[in-house]
Amino acid sequence: MKVLVVGGGGREHALVWKLRQSPRIKEIFCAPGNAGIAGDAVCVDIKAEDIQGLLAFARKEKIDLTVVGPEAPLTEGIVDVFREAGLKIFGPSARAAAIEGSKVLAKEIMFKYGIPTAKYGSFTDPAAAYAYLKEVGVPCVVKADGLAAGKGVIVAFEMAEAEAAVRQILEDKAFGQAGENIIIEEFLQGEEVSVLAFTDGLTVVPMLPAQDHKQIFDGDVGPNTGGMGAYAPAPVCTPEICRQAVEEVLKPMVRAMSEEGRDYEGVLYAGLMVTAGGVKVLEFNARFGDPEAQPVLMLLETDLVEIIEAILERRLDQTEVKWKNNAAVCVVLASGGYPGSYEKGRKISGLTGLTAADAVVFHAGTALKDGHIVASGGRVLGVAAQAPDIAGAIARAYNMIEKISFEGMQYRRDIGRKALVKSGK
Ligand code: ATP
Repeated sequence: MKVLVVGGGGREHALVWKLRQSPRIKEIFCAPGNAGIAGDAVCVDIKAEDIQGLLAFARKEKIDLTVVGPEAPLTEGIVDVFREAGLKIFGPSARAAAIEGSKVLAKEIMFKYGIPTAKYGSFTDPAAAYAYLKEVGVPCVVKADGLAAGKGVIVAFEMAEAEAAVRQILEDKAFGQAGENIIIEEFLQGEEVSVLAFTDGLTVVPMLPAQDHKQIFDGDVGPNTGGMGAYAPAPVCTPEICRQAVEEVLKPMVRAMSEEGRDYEGVLYAGLMVTAGGVKVLEFNARFGDPEAQPVLMLLETDLVEIIEAILERRLDQTEVKWKNNAAVCVVLASGGYPGSYEKGRKISGLTGLTAADAVVFHAGTALKDGHIVASGGRVLGVAAQAPDIAGAIARAYNMIEKISFEGMQYRRDIGRKALVKSGK
């Protein structure tokens, strides 16, 4: 089987790494990939958003299965375009992926079907938004409706901050079309957890719960990033919380989507807040999270191709999805200055000989320049390890990091610490 993975970050490296272990696969291509993916797949210089370019490539190479990593091609309809052309592709259609592409739509569906989430108002008119802010007060959360690469969410503790966010998004159009609509949402207190599931639109199979670390600095301080590290399984997701996530969020959402004429298949990602009153949805994503995919896929025992085929044939109910009885952690190494501006082209050293049965260095923003692997993005590498317990996985990952260096390299020292605290270590 010939497979094409779309995307070029750490998540896509994890997808390629996992798919490569399938005896069913003969050849893997990745578009556009990165310097690390190039060791595991043939990288093709086509952007993830270039749907027509990807379609032409898949036709020419007679690709048997395409797996999409990032959200942009999904919300732009890559799945619809490939299916119309008779090509097999894994992911939700544009109508289904719209629950990530429009926060207003996701909220409307959640409220209509009683899926627990924060109270909100949605606005296109700035005056109405300011009036609502006065009514609800702070803290509150202001969110641009559309995709804004994680930057369109402002958690405001002061009224001036909340008003500035409304002004920036609705009046100054800081996010263009993605900010034509906004949500003003009740602030939720608690611990976050990501519960992802495989679904064929009928059956929902949850993955191991994972926890991301969004802020740049240790102790969850500093600005938000794409994610500085993740681990799984996350003990905050107790059996009762997992039950709520599956029975009160994931299953009802998949049913709701089909009732709305938006049949959902692929990976459904629920970003949840575990509050004193139970789980509440912060957001839905239409794909694997990055960096959650890295530890979660490391722990997936079952062949991913088998799962994908079961989903495409709507027989997920007959497929057993097995997990390793281990814990895994992925620590992101980022460029100095990230999530603000940063230098590109720094040479990375110490990468050889690190990958082992229990450890992988997933590449995110890397490129090959004059025969050297260099940093070419904000998030550069994801150093991932698994062990029988989280303490062992953390120790193994940080041990590998000691061998890697590039100028300006920064990373958090506390990835997975919350799990350690919970397990009393
Ligand atoms: P992502 O980069 O995860 O896709 P996004 O732009 O889609 O982010 P959200 O996940 O909705 O945005 O919000 C980003 C972060 O803001 C959350 O991970 C959470 O930390 C915080 N947040 C969002 N909504 C709330 C809320 N109602 N209460 C408290 N914090 C919130």
